[in-house]
Amino acid sequence: MQIREPARALEVIHQADVVVVGAGPGGLAAALAAARCGVSVALVERFGCFGGNITTVGVEGFSWYRHEATIEAGGIGREFEDRAKAMSAGSASSQSLGTELDSEGFKLVADRLVEAAGITPMLHRAVVAPVMEGNRVTGIITESKAGREAILASVVIDASGDADIAHRAGAPVWHTAREEMLAASVMFHVAGVNKARFMEEVKANPHTYADWSGGEWTVETDGKEDEMFSPFLKRPFEQARAAGLIPADLTTIAGTWGMVHDTGEMTYMNLVHLDGCDGTDPDDLTRFEIEGRRQAMLAVAALRAYAPGCEGLRLRNFGMTIGIRDSRKIDAAYNMTSADVRGEARFDDTIGVYPEFIDGYGLLVLPTTGRYMHIPYRALLPRGVEGLLVAGRAIGGDKIAHAATRNMAACAVTGQGAGVAAAFAVKSGVGLGAVDIAAVQKELTGQGVRIA
Ligand SMILES: Cc1cc2nc3c(=O)[nH]c(=O)nc-3n(C[C@H](O)[C@H](O)[C@H](O)COP(=O)(O)OP(=O)(O)OC[C@H]3O[C@@H](n4cnc5c(N)ncnc54)[C@H](O)[C@@H]3O)c2cc1C
Repeated sequence: MQIREPARALEVIHQADVVVVGAGPGGLAAALAAARCGVSVALVERFGCFGGNITTVGVEGFSWYRHEATIEAGGIGREFEDRAKAMSAGSASSQSLGTELDSEGFKLVADRLVEAAGITPMLHRAVVAPVMEGNRVTGIITESKAGREAILASVVIDASGDADIAHRAGAPVWHTAREEMLAASVMFHVAGVNKARFMEEVKANPHTYADWSGGEWTVETDGKEDEMFSPFLKRPFEQARAAGLIPADLTTIAGTWGMVHDTGEMTYMNLVHLDGCDGTDPDDLTRFEIEGRRQAMLAVAALRAYAPGCEGLRLRNFGMTIGIRDSRKIDAAYNMTSADVRGEARFDDTIGVYPEFIDGYGLLVLPTTGRYMHIPYRALLPRGVEGLLVAGRAIGGDKIAHAATRNMAACAVTGQGAGVAAAFAVKSGVGLGAVDIAAVQKELTGQGVRIA
C-alpha cells in the first residue's frame, strides 16, 4: 500500500558556501578544512554531538595501526589526536604508537574545533533529501523537531558514511550485498576492572594478531603481524561457551579491548560482531541493536566469570548507536582498487597519503614497512551529479580499498581534501570536476597535509 504526501513549500533556514552532512572524522575534517579556507560552512548532524563513530559508537582506536615506520598524512587527523591529548581526551594506545581517543571527551574536543573555525553547527537534524536543480545539488532538506526545512549551499559534502545524499541525488552507488557486508557491532564500555590483575594476565598470556584467525574467522596477514601483540580477548568466551554461559553456536563473541584505565574502566569493547546488518535498513538496525545489546551482556557475564581482574565488572554504557562498517560506496570518477592499496599507488591528483594498512574482508596488513599510497581527489567525485563531493568511508573503491580508506584517519584525509576542494570551487566559481588541483594541493600542504 502507498499513500501520497502532498507537496509543500519549505522554509530556507540557512545558506552557506559549503554544507557538510555528517560530522564523523570525514565530515568534521571537511568542515574544518573548508572553513579555514575562508568560506562559510554549516555542519549538519543527526545526533547531538560531532565525531561520528568516535563519539556515537565509541570507536576510540584512531591510529592503532601506527608503528615506527608508518608514513601518514598528518593534517587534521593528527590535530584530532593532539587536541584530544591536550584536553585529556587521548591516551597512548595499548598496542602501538597511536592514540586512543576518549569517546566522551572527544565531544568537547570537536565542539571547540567547530567553534574556533567559525563553522555554523546544526545538530539534531537528519538530512532526508538533496535540493536539486537538474543534476546539480544546491542544498539539503532536513527533518527535525522543527519539521522539514531547507538549507542551501554552493557545494554539499556528503560525509554521512552511507552516501545518503549521493544516493538520493541519483548518483550511482555500490551497495554491498548483505551477506558480504563487514559485520556491525554494538560497542560498550565497562567499569569495575582490577587493572593490575587484568594486565598481569595479559602479560602472562598475551594474544597476538594471529589470534584474530580461528573459530568463526579466517584473517590473512602478511605474516609479519602474526607475532605482534594484540589486545584481543578470546579465551574467556571459549570457556563461557564450554560452560554453557554463552550459547555454543554463538561463536562471534571475541575481539579487542581498547583501553583499560587506572580508574577501572575498560573502553572500546569491540566484542560483538553481527553479520547481515544493512545500516541503511531501519528494520535491520532495530533488530541488531537489540540483539547486539543481548550479546554484549553475555560478553560481560563471560568476562566476569573467566577473565582475571574482571570479577567486579559491570556495564558502564553502550554506544549511542550500533556501529556500521559497510553499506553504500559511490561509483566515483576514479574507484580505488586493491592494487592501489597494495601497490603504493601514486596519483597526480593526490590529496593526501595513507599507509598500507588494511583491516577488513579477511585481510589484516599493518603498516610496519613505510609503504604508503596516495588518495586521489577523483575518488571523492560522484558520477552523474554536480555540486556534490563525498568524504569518509563512502568514497569510491573496491572492498580492499575500502578496508584501508574506511579507517578514521583516512576518512580525515578525504574529509580535509574535500573541504579544501569545495572551498576552492566556491572561490573560483568553477565546477568540482574542474577545480585547480595544484592550488588545492598547495593549500593542503599549507594546512599540514603530506600529499606525496
Ligand atoms: C564497531 C566499529 C569499530 C571500528 N574500529 C575502528 C578502529 O579501531 N579504527 C578506525 O580507524 N576505524 C574503525 N572503524 C571504522 C570507522 O569508525 C569508520 O569507517 C569511520 O568512522 C567512518 O567515518 P565517516 O566520517 O565516513 O563516517 P561516520 O563516522 O559514520 O560519521 C558519519 C556521521 O554522519 C551522521 N549522519 C549519517 N547520516 C546522516 C543524515 N542522513 N543526516 C545527518 N547526519 C547523518 C552520523 O550520525 C555520523 O555522525 C570501526 C567501525 C566500527 C563500526
